[in-house]
Amino acid sequence: MSDAAGVETHQRGARLKIVVIGGVAGGANFATRARRLSEAAEIVLIERGPYVSFANCGMPYHIGGEIPSRDDLLLQTPESLAQTFGLDVRISHDAIRIDRHHKEVWIRNLATGETTAEQYDHLVLATGAVPVRPALPGIDLPGIFALRDMVDMDRINQWLARTDGRSAVIVGGGFVGLELAEQLQRRGIATTIIHSDDHLLTPFDVEMAAPIATELEKHGVRVVLDDAVAGFAHDPQGRIRVTTKQGRRHIGDIAILCMGVRPVSDLAANAGLATGLRHAVVVNEFLQTSDPNIWAVGDCVQLQHRVSGRDVYIPLAGPANRGGRLIADNILGRRRPFRGPMGTTIIRVFGLTAACTGLYERALIELDIPYQAVHLHPSSHAKYFPGSHPVAIKLLFDPLHGTIFGAQAVGQVGVDKRIDVIATAMAGGLTVEELGDLDLCYAPPFGSAKDAVNMAGLAASNIVDGLVEAISWHELPAFAGEATILDVRRQSEWDAGAIPDAMHIPLAELRVRMSEIPRNRPVIVYCHSGQRSYVACRLLAQHGYPCRNLSGAYVTWSAGQSSQVAVAQPGAAELLEFSLAR
Ligand code: FAD
Repeated sequence: MSDAAGVETHQRGARLKIVVIGGVAGGANFATRARRLSEAAEIVLIERGPYVSFANCGMPYHIGGEIPSRDDLLLQTPESLAQTFGLDVRISHDAIRIDRHHKEVWIRNLATGETTAEQYDHLVLATGAVPVRPALPGIDLPGIFALRDMVDMDRINQWLARTDGRSAVIVGGGFVGLELAEQLQRRGIATTIIHSDDHLLTPFDVEMAAPIATELEKHGVRVVLDDAVAGFAHDPQGRIRVTTKQGRRHIGDIAILCMGVRPVSDLAANAGLATGLRHAVVVNEFLQTSDPNIWAVGDCVQLQHRVSGRDVYIPLAGPANRGGRLIADNILGRRRPFRGPMGTTIIRVFGLTAACTGLYERALIELDIPYQAVHLHPSSHAKYFPGSHPVAIKLLFDPLHGTIFGAQAVGQVGVDKRIDVIATAMAGGLTVEELGDLDLCYAPPFGSAKDAVNMAGLAASNIVDGLVEAISWHELPAFAGEATILDVRRQSEWDAGAIPDAMHIPLAELRVRMSEIPRNRPVIVYCHSGQRSYVACRLLAQHGYPCRNLSGAYVTWSAGQSSQVAVAQPGAAELLEFSLAR
């Protein structure tokens, strides 16, 4: 018999049997929640590897020594899952075929080679992803690794110990690549990152990623952008020689591939289940595949982006953990939809933290969604209280209705809470105006009476309300020779450096010196971080000047210059699909 959604249900009294394939984030979350909901169900967990429920997110930090104990990464063992949750856990077992007609899955015991069939009422695929390994010359040489699981981590550590590794080449400047670079450098290993894009961390826009590259270099990591690896070889000393397409050579005692991941979906595809982006398994809002009795979760699935509504491949721990739990609810009678991911994520790189949520500017351009960006540099907490640092925030929103599309933040402290608040606001459908009006906690050691998040909302609201027009740093060249660029900072700031061809009138003198500004062309105003220039804009606009505020002002413009690339460029559509691959 079937319920309304087409899921085959059981006669009262029959024992429900669920087989789950994959025992890490998605699979283990599913299985333990399923047990908490049903003591009656028979739950079999099949895992190809020797470990279940390990913290792959912690692995870079064990390699660097920041997490000293390897076993702290083992959150559960097969025994603890069996004892505490009554699960039938089979490690070193490979699911090799699904027979949908007979509702059974064929499993090979990797220790004995024996193959058996396991029947199911519901099958949950949590088969995850594996690192991308392009077919480059020399890619299988000893000394070249990728990091996905405990076995990979142990191999990397053993190699570094055996070779007394002193240098490393990381291929790929995404999240895992940067975490590893930080940790290897921390361990005293001179590290080079080679990244094919024009900036690190694709879901950040170029001017927001620039400080991260600077921070890496400040700590001795070499960052090579806009170049791709062409091949690998051994040098006469047996080290890895990495050659790039631009003909550069980088030597490392170890090379680690951090080029993103691809979903493990062959089992699903061979069973005739629908697959989509990068062959990820297609699921509906309840995480059901095209077979209503087979569910899929985590890094093997394609989901709908919560902001754009587009199909995306976002392999992150949050969606995998939440999705596993949700499938258990759905199978066991608590039907609820999975709200798509927003790609909310965070990284620490030495003294800086970078976090983001939602769509970034390149994605909005590619999707042809009209947007406006504001950049701000508010303090992490009240400036007069010791220990405050600026937080660079970029908020992307709909200039007509104030819908929030995404945000990025970079700084030393307070980055995580700002992005989490904005992500929560987005999930609740708040507009920029409502962001400005959020009632957030405040005392001087923690924030400001108008918190950085409020400030972002207020700055965006001023644009939606037509109080000010803003332009981004990368739009400035389009105004060359056509607009007056006005610097309203203090003399000492102006003396330390300014945007070429700008004129200088400090804000305090603007009211009396306004007549020096040509009236017949647009005025683009900037200060240090955008606040004084907003005040100047309001003053000038009320005196009839066609005025625009340079968003994020001199700080953001400088970050943009240091990256020296254009924001919009072909190929961004492809990036959208796997930009968040860790
Ligand atoms: P996986 O963790 O890949 O688990 C899938 C399991 O299925 C594997 O153990 C595999 O052996 C097993 N399997 C596959 N096929 C079969 C089969 N046929 N039979 C039996 N078993 C099978 N995300 C974040 O959000 N934040 C972070 O800070 C973060 N850091 C990370 C750091 C590293 C180094 C790595 C590698 C990932 C990181 N991630 C992070 C990503 C996060 O770990 C993944 O999104 C998450 O683990 C996905 O869980 P999953 O269960 O879908 O897949």
